[in-house]
Amino acid sequence: MAQHFLLSAASRTLSLRKIYKAGEGEAYQTFCEMRWPETNGEAVCPKCGHDETYKITTRRKFKCKACSHQFSVTSGTIFASRKMDFVDLLAAICIVVNASKGISMVQLSRDLDCQYKTAFVLAHKLREAMAQEVHTGEVLDGHVEIDGAYFGGHVRPANAKVDRVDRRLKRNQSNRRRVVVALRERTGRTLPFIAMSEGEGVALAIENVSRTATMSADEASHWDTLHDGWMVDRVNHSEIYSDHGKHTNMVESFFSRLRNMIEGQHHGVSPKYLHQYSNHAAWLEDNRRTDNGTQAEIIVSNAMDAPVSRQWKGYWQRAA
Ligand SMILES: [Zn+2]
Repeated sequence: MAQHFLLSAASRTLSLRKIYKAGEGEAYQTFCEMRWPETNGEAVCPKCGHDETYKITTRRKFKCKACSHQFSVTSGTIFASRKMDFVDLLAAICIVVNASKGISMVQLSRDLDCQYKTAFVLAHKLREAMAQEVHTGEVLDGHVEIDGAYFGGHVRPANAKVDRVDRRLKRNQSNRRRVVVALRERTGRTLPFIAMSEGEGVALAIENVSRTATMSADEASHWDTLHDGWMVDRVNHSEIYSDHGKHTNMVESFFSRLRNMIEGQHHGVSPKYLHQYSNHAAWLEDNRRTDNGTQAEIIVSNAMDAPVSRQWKGYWQRAA
């Protein structure tokens, strides 16, 4: 059997030792090069586009020669008003891409020796950077599998049997339960959404799957209407998982990763953040055969391209 990609040397092109040995200056340079690739890391004014600046070296800031605007390499990006050193930021990214099933925020905060809330906000910003590649706005094509899986809203059974309720009844369920509907190209992207019921997936397919695609779905009756728009392979999971190429195994493996991530690392998840974890797992699926150095580069480059996060800006400073 072929060697698993993550066991191969080709998957390891970046390490914490490399990052810390190179030091803060190199890490800073990396961020500059990712922010301004067309000028090889030379600052370009984000306000007027002029590429001549005064360097305020002591504060790592730039002042535009044309409009006097002052800015830093992270101004206007997801990492705006960061306080962490660049070398630690790069290390954090390395740790996050190395965790192929996600990482708990307690663990990240201990690895980085920062507060829990710093790790929490940072990881969510990285997920926003990943989401740029997941939700590109382009429709899926080729062979697209669709499926849904429920997450969250676990109702704990009462201690004594006499006190236990029927958790199959709607009135005994939690309102925190959500379904992740995922669309996945057999040889391409994974696109997850959060819904209240799996049937909402049909509308999501109409919006996000090209009419020239072929689709695969399981036996659930709400997928029947997919046949109106596409050629659809159906597979009845109560009888068989893969029937001569008819299967939903690709989308199932996305759910497997997401479930491992949520149950094994986060131990439960609020419906408010479920979309972020889904995007994280989708990004890991789509980049599962990318070496970790390239993965880190992709995230830094996306982050330098991503606008200031509205959701996470000063998150912990805001009144609860
Ligand atoms: Zn300017």
